[in-house]
Amino acid sequence: MPEEVTLYRKWRPQRFSEVVGQDLVVETLRRAVIQGRLSHAYLFAGQRGVGKTTVARILARAANCLSPRDGEPCNECENCRRIISGKSLDMVEIDGASNRGIDQIRRLREEVNYVPAGARYKVYIIDEVHMLTNEAFNALLKTLEEPPPHVIFIFATTEPHKVPPTILSRCQVFEFTPIPEELIRRKLLDIAAAEGIRLEEGAAGLIARRAEGSLRDAEVLLEQLSRGGDVTEADVVALLGLPPLAELDRFLDALRGGDAVAAIEVVARNLERGRDLGLFLEEAALRARDRILEGDAGLVELARKLFSWRAEIPRAISPRLHLELEILAHCGAPPRPIPVGRGEGGGAADVPGDDAPEPPPEVDVDAPAGAEGAGGQGSADARGGPGGLFAEPAGDAEPAPRAGGGWPSPDEYGSPWDKVIAAALADRVSVAAFLLPAEAAFRDGVLTIRFPEGFRFHYEMLREPGTREYLEALARRFFQPLLSVRIEYEGKEEGKLALEEAAELVARYLEGKVVREEG
Ligand SMILES: [Zn+2]
Repeated sequence: MPEEVTLYRKWRPQRFSEVVGQDLVVETLRRAVIQGRLSHAYLFAGQRGVGKTTVARILARAANCLSPRDGEPCNECENCRRIISGKSLDMVEIDGASNRGIDQIRRLREEVNYVPAGARYKVYIIDEVHMLTNEAFNALLKTLEEPPPHVIFIFATTEPHKVPPTILSRCQVFEFTPIPEELIRRKLLDIAAAEGIRLEEGAAGLIARRAEGSLRDAEVLLEQLSRGGDVTEADVVALLGLPPLAELDRFLDALRGGDAVAAIEVVARNLERGRDLGLFLEEAALRARDRILEGDAGLVELARKLFSWRAEIPRAISPRLHLELEILAHCGAPPRPIPVGRGEGGGAADVPGDDAPEPPPEVDVDAPAGAEGAGGQGSADARGGPGGLFAEPAGDAEPAPRAGGGWPSPDEYGSPWDKVIAAALADRVSVAAFLLPAEAAFRDGVLTIRFPEGFRFHYEMLREPGTREYLEALARRFFQPLLSVRIEYEGKEEGKLALEEAAELVARYLEGKVVREEG
């Protein structure tokens, strides 16, 4: 465990005043020491790495110090030194996770009756106290009901709600809050300066952010990174798989400017580098928050969206597709829905069957007011090509910025089928996404939605009862009179798709590499 010893142990606070980010807690405790009004039982609640055990140890020394100053332990007297060296019989640390049973607590109950060996108080620190068994809690409760005057219990827990109320009610409870990023950042820079570690400002910021309120985690990370010499922002990015700030800024600026293609490009690039989509969104949201704090108030709405997109990712059937569609919805749609590239260079421009409703108009429908005719020529082709749902944009084609940020209304589309997709886009993007590769034909009151081979997954998804009903209601708005909706798959009818196969299909679909399979 040399790893743990070094920085983290070395920099562990020895006085209340050195504790970072828990001002209220340490101030209250320091005053209690000065006034000689210590409780017999404390409960320190808070996430890991925020200083619970550290403060407990400082309190144990302060309570026993022979020459305390302002409620702080001197750390030099016999009592302090004995506790620091771990040789004191009067400070006992118990790990609640590995000493959960009644026997340990019984032994403890007998022990507490003996007066301290050399100090004023016997201090028992029970870490992860919520792990104790019920019997152990009951035994403990008896001691807490009539605590010997020379005993102080300090319970620490990451899960206070698991501590029985009977115990809680006998403790003075302190909540340890996650340590603010800025304090962690400054602490890291202080440590680095003192240790002769060259730590870039940006690197310190990234470590602090990823530590999520835990100074200990931050210190351990700094330790790991500093073994390789100087700690640069690039090191942190590489170690943690984080997107660089410049990428995040590009992403935010693209979204703010309504440039869906640029935003989707950034996402694609980061996925290619193996970065996690959820982490990417989280970082983007945090970056937006930082910029808001720096005075960029225009990002508030976007930051809120990013946090909600982040929350949706784990539930999305296809996270990347989901995000791409959210981005499009945020930026405003291209002038008309672009069919997904259906093969390398093929398919995308499929001619609708004879029965199809009127073919899509050759000319793009006018973009709504505020959008400069950028939707014309180039951009549609560029996005509909085989490279992906929205493939790499043609060099200089400008994406259409849309003032409103929403999808155009179905009225803007020529054909009823396009209207259906447009309405779904505005309402349930996942349904729209599944509809994109389909062809539709309307005859004698029957709307047939046909999926070509390779889109089995889409077909299956649309046949899900809830989705199907939604789709029928939607279709009824634009096709009249609508008697029924048929959803067909042109490929071979095999058994249900294995989950794996479905996932693979989605992946290929997203990469735009779905090709018609032979035979
Ligand atoms: Zn002392």
